Amino acid sequence: MASSRTEKTVANTWKLPVVVVSRIVPAVDTEVVAVFQGENRKILIPAGSKYSELLARFGKGDAFQARHGSVQMVRFAGKGAAENVAFLGMGKSAELTAEKIRVAAAMLWAKLAAEKVSTAAVVVEGGLAQPAHARAFLEGMLLNAYSFNKYKKGAETGVALSKLVLVSADTTVVSHLNDETKRALAVAEAVNITRDWSNEPSNFGTPEYFAAEAMRHSRKYGIKCRVLSEADAKREGMGLFLAVGQGSPREGKIVVMEYLPKGKSKNLKTVAFVGKGITFDCGGISIKPSLRMEDMKHDMTGAATLFGATLLAAALKVPNRIVTILAFTENMTDGAAIQPGNVVRARNGKTVEIINTDAEGRLILADVLDYAHEFKPDVIVDAATLTGAVSVALGKHCSAVLGNDDGLIEALREAGNDNHERIWQLPMFDEYLEDLKSDSADLKNSANDGNGGTIRGAIFMAQFIRKGMKWAHLDIAATAYGMPHVPYFPKKGGSGIYVRTLAQFASEF
Ligand SMILES: [Zn+2]
Repeated sequence: MASSRTEKTVANTWKLPVVVVSRIVPAVDTEVVAVFQGENRKILIPAGSKYSELLARFGKGDAFQARHGSVQMVRFAGKGAAENVAFLGMGKSAELTAEKIRVAAAMLWAKLAAEKVSTAAVVVEGGLAQPAHARAFLEGMLLNAYSFNKYKKGAETGVALSKLVLVSADTTVVSHLNDETKRALAVAEAVNITRDWSNEPSNFGTPEYFAAEAMRHSRKYGIKCRVLSEADAKREGMGLFLAVGQGSPREGKIVVMEYLPKGKSKNLKTVAFVGKGITFDCGGISIKPSLRMEDMKHDMTGAATLFGATLLAAALKVPNRIVTILAFTENMTDGAAIQPGNVVRARNGKTVEIINTDAEGRLILADVLDYAHEFKPDVIVDAATLTGAVSVALGKHCSAVLGNDDGLIEALREAGNDNHERIWQLPMFDEYLEDLKSDSADLKNSANDGNGGTIRGAIFMAQFIRKGMKWAHLDIAATAYGMPHVPYFPKKGGSGIYVRTLAQFASEF
């Protein structure tokens, strides 16, 4: 049954604000003044602020103590340049970190949105003016410029804040604010595309849809892109990839992107990104329980994340070559679906006994990981919403990394720490492989007993990494969607986490 089952989608509704850098405070709805919290409940007011007196009066009472993330909005009558002022509490200056700034900026965004402010100017001075801090502030604001409401009738388009002005009288600061603005807009766009992909319902977000969208965006970003069909996958001997999709009427697609930096680079390294793109995962014959099964439209977020990271890397002109391979297919129940006990041959010749059809991510990744070696990369990094077990092991405050090279894992961890998108290593002891020995094939895809699930998933995939290849696997199942505790991520749906981290990794590796 090869009929196309992709429904026609509509354009997304988010729109990034216009961001400009100015040397004077222009006419806007609201002027924003960031304030540090002083010792003994005193407030340190930016030198020479025309709001000094007002802040001092607030500080005497409990109206505004500049506690981290607090926002005090003051509305003035009259027709002055700025009708209103928002005081943003930054907490104690000695405790200031980039992440605290990101969070405070997100709180500011929420307040401005609630107050229906459409244009705002932020005075950038003191600690905020450092490049790393200005970057965090812009990220904390712009990562909020997202909504997924395109299927709602009469949904509002765009976002609350349409124009943001960064103000500094210092020419050096103005120059780096211009750079950081360009970067932050590129970050927000790439992260939002990742969120859009993750949130797309699977009747619209089919393998065919993502392949077409990958082609469309790649053209815009100057990235080479081609798509392998199931016939191509068959020629490549990708038995595991095809087996997973054989219960779905929607044809699987493998997207292959290649970014090359402009000009010749002597130390050009190649990073291969490999992403899991299960557009819907019902578990197959080993069917999942119905509770929260709707979330399984997000099971392609590994692919969405690496796609966003590749776009961002291209926008930031990173100096390395990136080959990104995204495997899209659907895991469904059907008369043709794979059955527990089936034996399937992988691209690398190994045979796999399917114990649990819901352990399908590792199957499609095994074949595309093997395929990734053909591009002669220096390292392979895959990302996948692979196991529910990773939530049990680590909760929602970090993702798991497993792999065969400490230097590679450290580089990923460092890039993650820089962006407060944290990554924690789990072990890959040889003994875990014993659990995946099969009676009827070279390997089995699951031990089906709920122990060490995240590690076993990685150990399985490690059997498809060739000798000498450096490889790391990110299990992002706990963080890819549903991160309500991070103020600059949406309360529900795709988070867009690790887009920044993986683009930085590709740049610095
Ligand atoms: Zn599954």
